[in-house]
Amino acid sequence: MLEAERLLNCTAVRLLLTPRRKTGGLKLTKYVFVTGGVLSSLGKGIVTASTALLFKSMGYSVTAVKIDPYVNVDASTMNPYAHGEVFVTEDGGETDLDLGHYERFLHQNLTKNNNITTGKVYLSVIEKERRGEYLGQTVQIIPHVTDEIKSMIREVSKDFDVAIVEIGGTVGDIEGLPFLEAARQMWVEEGRRGVAFVHVALVPVLSTTGEQKTKPLQHSVQELRRIGIQPDVVIARSTKPLEPEARRKVALYSSLPEEAVFSDPDVGFVYEVPLVLNDQGYPSYLARVLGLEARRPELGAWKEFVEKLKGLPEGPTIAMVGKYTKLKDSYISIIEALKHSAVKAGFRPKLKWIEVTDVEREKLRAEEAVEGADGAIVLPGFGERGAEGKIRVIKALREQGKPALGICYGMQMMVVEVARHLAGLEGAHSEEVDPSTPHPVVALLEEQKGVEYVGGTLRLGAKTVRIVRGTKLWEAYGREVVRERHRHRYDVNPKYLDVLEKAGLRVSAWDEEGRVPEGVELKGQEFWGVQYHPEYKSRPLEPAPVYTRFLRSLRR
Ligand code: GLN
Repeated sequence: MLEAERLLNCTAVRLLLTPRRKTGGLKLTKYVFVTGGVLSSLGKGIVTASTALLFKSMGYSVTAVKIDPYVNVDASTMNPYAHGEVFVTEDGGETDLDLGHYERFLHQNLTKNNNITTGKVYLSVIEKERRGEYLGQTVQIIPHVTDEIKSMIREVSKDFDVAIVEIGGTVGDIEGLPFLEAARQMWVEEGRRGVAFVHVALVPVLSTTGEQKTKPLQHSVQELRRIGIQPDVVIARSTKPLEPEARRKVALYSSLPEEAVFSDPDVGFVYEVPLVLNDQGYPSYLARVLGLEARRPELGAWKEFVEKLKGLPEGPTIAMVGKYTKLKDSYISIIEALKHSAVKAGFRPKLKWIEVTDVEREKLRAEEAVEGADGAIVLPGFGERGAEGKIRVIKALREQGKPALGICYGMQMMVVEVARHLAGLEGAHSEEVDPSTPHPVVALLEEQKGVEYVGGTLRLGAKTVRIVRGTKLWEAYGREVVRERHRHRYDVNPKYLDVLEKAGLRVSAWDEEGRVPEGVELKGQEFWGVQYHPEYKSRPLEPAPVYTRFLRSLRR
């Protein structure tokens, strides 16, 4: 280690560097940076979300920020197959799926600015440079890029007591370095109690001996120290609770007291993680690190939700009809929304995944695919691949009278199916799939004509939806106006509504102006869908009414 780095890690120097902040009447935000070691996909997002929930439950105002070190400006152009679902915020941000976890745990809306990426940071720096704002300086990673990162973090956190900032990826990744450096600088600038570092790392269990091995974790802590960051807390992710000997080693090699080492074992539901961490005194320890009063977290309602969820009997089977079924994270908000609604409905559905590309390639027959399913969710999607397979599955569902709920593209394909087979519109399709279809029953939205860029240009975010009385959606919400989140470029073509209506399809919701159909349903059947994504707003303690109604329909 360099001499300067050793100095920086020394408590005396940390104290010397302490409070530098001018409060100026503003809130003094405390920052918790969550880093990851050894592997990605460790559940760092869940630890971040849990930390946020625990501080909120102590009575602090909290926000959560996700840093994604990739060069994409946002998640809009990313394939769900590689990164999982794109989560849409109220203000129309297309963000990393971890923001979904944060919102569900915090029971609070976040904004597009709560997701910071390398692309976003550089875009802003380069725009400033082009405007001449750097006044002739050489623009560099340090300080210009790191300053930009810090200012983005501070800006989105400024109205809160505590900001939990997750740095995506793993310590040691080249692309994560500027963010870790910015975090280190913030620790210097905010004072010793202004910033805390929580390091989450894997402790693998040897299959031969069942022993927990801490060496990879030790190395990841060393890697953090090498860049000048000493963690305040280490959370050991493992399949089982951390054993005393492993804990002792983790503490020793991390230069921490044993009380600063917490265990994050595998649990049945992610919603248990805050409770597991709370039982070990994690929130109060972290509060003390930050110089905050360690209040008792108020977790009554959360605990009740978790207990109910764990105790639910397994219920009917739902077919999940989509083309990203090999990476279930592609549909994570829907899966979670079903858990929230399950508590209301009184049973936990089994999920049966139907890969529509298999149906399309005739590896699987649609009738066979839906066998054993009591109902289906026709999942969102994009593009041509799998569309015909999806339509075949929809036809089988409709003909067999199985409850089917379509979400966004799923609903659009249901309309195509009805157009072809009930309204007699041969070759009907969505313009997205077949631009030269004779019957574009799903067409490009008026506002989308002339849009040039692909990234971030869909019809996005929360919009007013007007529910038509006497429909299934009305039964779900029991009110006329709701706000739901969108992510689409196409909609049901109003020019075809007359013919479709004659075939039994009706519009069950409209947008604010009455131009975009926001929901449809088939008369006399549990066959309905929405153009928006109710799952983005579903929360454990406030499930999305659409999913709750769908689950209840399976028991009728
Ligand atoms: N691809 C469809 C559209 O753009 C639907 C997108 C989705 O399912 N989110 O309209």
